[in-house]
Amino acid sequence: MDYEGYTSPSTELAIDLANADMSQQGAAIDAFLAAHDEWLTPRTRLTLRPVERAELGTVAAMIRAVAAAEDEETVIERLNDLLAKSTPHPRVTNHDGGLHVHYSRDRSTAVEQITTTVAVGITLLVTAHGWTRLGICSATDCQDVYVDTSRNQTRRFCSGTCSSRSSVAAFRARQKA
Ligand SMILES: [Zn+2]
Ligand SMILES: [Zn+2]
Repeated sequence: MDYEGYTSPSTELAIDLANADMSQQGAAIDAFLAAHDEWLTPRTRLTLRPVERAELGTVAAMIRAVAAAEDEETVIERLNDLLAKSTPHPRVTNHDGGLHVHYSRDRSTAVEQITTTVAVGITLLVTAHGWTRLGICSATDCQDVYVDTSRNQTRRFCSGTCSSRSSVAAFRARQKA
């Protein structure tokens, strides 16, 4: 699970966290962790305390804030806020068969490991590929965060579904007019 490129697993983890429904209590958030436990060192506690769930919700909101920022200065500011919450401790691993770096501290809590992984992940994404790479879906009833992997950075929707739904709606609106 590495950090390279815009479709890297660490970027996916950040997007999944930003789009997870943190208003749901307990079970759903613990399920999110269990589904991403490849990022956590063995024997990490996956059942969070209420205060830890709230903390994870804050981190999710901070990723969303980076995606929502409309200029480079704001992206820098919000990324630095997120990095300030992280506790990087780079280490080399071959847990999935290939040599690569992990940034989270071994044997720290799940929230600490996830926070550091997503903070470093989206920082490397933005510094390597530009501050406009993260966005929020333009469909009227969708607020999902996405990563723009298109060459000329023209993406406006989180998915093909939202994109076609929006073009159908625009077509109907034009017909009505
Ligand atoms: Zn890994
Ligand atoms: Zn969408």
